Amino acid sequence: MACGQACPKQCISLNGDEEGFWYPYVDAELCIDCGLCEKVCPVLHPFQSNRPLSTLAAVNPNEAIRANSSSGGVFTLLAEEVVSRGGVVFGAAYDSDWMVSITSAQTIGELDKFRGSKYLQAKVGNTYRDCKAFLDTGIYVLFSGTPCQISGLKHYLRKDYDNLITVDIVCHGVPSPGVWKQYLAEVSDAGKRAIRDVKFRDKRDGWRKFNFVIDYSEGSEEYVMASEHDKNPYMRAFLSDLILRPSCYECPAKCGRGSADITLADFWGAEHFIQDDDKGVSLVMLNTNKGTRLFQSCSILPTSVDYDEVSKYNSAIFNSCSPHPKRAEFFASFVKGDGVNDLIVHLLKPSYRQQIRQLRSTVKMLIKRVLHPVGGVKIG
Ligand SMILES: Cc1cc2nc3c(=O)[nH]c(=O)nc-3n(C[C@H](O)[C@H](O)[C@H](O)COP(=O)(O)OP(=O)(O)OC[C@H]3O[C@@H](n4cnc5c(N)ncnc54)[C@H](O)[C@@H]3O)c2cc1C
Repeated sequence: MACGQACPKQCISLNGDEEGFWYPYVDAELCIDCGLCEKVCPVLHPFQSNRPLSTLAAVNPNEAIRANSSSGGVFTLLAEEVVSRGGVVFGAAYDSDWMVSITSAQTIGELDKFRGSKYLQAKVGNTYRDCKAFLDTGIYVLFSGTPCQISGLKHYLRKDYDNLITVDIVCHGVPSPGVWKQYLAEVSDAGKRAIRDVKFRDKRDGWRKFNFVIDYSEGSEEYVMASEHDKNPYMRAFLSDLILRPSCYECPAKCGRGSADITLADFWGAEHFIQDDDKGVSLVMLNTNKGTRLFQSCSILPTSVDYDEVSKYNSAIFNSCSPHPKRAEFFASFVKGDGVNDLIVHLLKPSYRQQIRQLRSTVKMLIKRVLHPVGGVKIG
C-alpha cells in the first residue's frame, strides 16, 4: 500500500479480493499516469539482501510480558524504550471485530495491543502517511511489521530519517483475512458470547507446544476455547501453507530485504545454544548501527550467537514456503461460500500413505524408547 498512500489523486484503494486478501485497486478514470505508484513499489524495486551486523538471543526480564509475547518479548522492550523517549510506536493490533490493522501507540499501557503474533494479513491503511507526519515533526518513531510492510514504508518515504527505527519479524507468510473472518464466525460460539481475547501463541503448555486460544470469559465466569496448534484447523491451514497470500510463496522481502534496522524471530533451536526454559526466546538480528544503539539502551542481557549456525534452525529467514497442493481446491470452495473449518479438516486429512508413514514413525519411536529407556533419545 505504498502506492495507495503516495498517489496524488488518491485513486488507489485497498479492497479484499475473492480469496479475502487485501490488494490495492486503481480507479483508471481518475489516474493521471504520473507513475509515482510504480516508483514507490517495493515489489518492482526490491532492496538488496542483508546480513545482520550481530545476532543475539534475548528474553524480556518481565515474565508476564514474556508470557504474552510470541517469542522472548523483545519487541515490547524496544517499544517501551521508544515511548519512554516521547516517541510513537506503530504495530499490528486487533480491530473491534478481531481483524488486524497497523496502528500507533504513544503510551506504555497501549503497547499491550501489539503483543503476540496475529496470523493474518494486517491492513496497513494510511499508516505510512501518519508515520511520515510524525517523522517530519521530529518525533522519534518505531515502525514494526512484516518485512514487506517495512519495505513498503521505506519506499513510500524515499529518504532516510534519523528519528525512524524500523523493526521487522521473520515471516512465514500471512493467511487470508477473509478466511480468518469466516473461521471466527464458525467457531466463535455462533455469536452467543463476546470474544475477550484471541491468542495464536498461548504458552500455557510451553512455547513449543503453543495453543490457539479464544477467550470468551465474562466477569468471574471463565470460558476459554483452547486447542493445540497442530490440532486447530486454522493453525494447521496456516502452518501447512494452505491459506497464505500468493505473494508469500515468492516473497521478495526475505534475507533482510525488508531493510529493517532490527529483525526479530523465534529462536527455534535455542536449546542447542543457551539454557532454555521453554518460555520463549527471541532471536534478535541487529542490521544497522541505529538498531544496535536502540537495542543496547534496553535493560536486557543478551547472548551473542553465530548467525550461520542459528539460522539453520529457521528456514523462514531465507526461504518462501511452497503452496500446499490443495490450496487451489481450498480457495475454489471458499469462493463458492463453503464453510472453512470442515473444509480444512477434510483437505488436510492425511492420505492413506501418510497415515502409514506416521504409524511407522510412531512404532519406530516406541521401539527406541523400549531399547533406550534412560534419558532422551533423538528420533530422526
Ligand atoms: C504472520 C507472522 C508470521 C511469522 N512467522 C515466523 C516464522 O516463520 N519464523 C519466526 O522465527 N518468526 C515468525 N514470526 C515472528 C515471531 O512469531 C514473533 O512475532 C517475533 O519473534 C517477535 O516476538 P516478540 O516476542 O519479540 O514480540 P511479540 O509481542 O510476540 O510480537 C509483536 C510484534 O509482532 C508484530 N505483529 C504481530 N502480528 C502481526 C501481523 N499480522 N502483521 C504484521 N506484524 C505483526 C507486531 O506489530 C509487533 O511488532 C511471525 C510473525 C507473524 C505475525
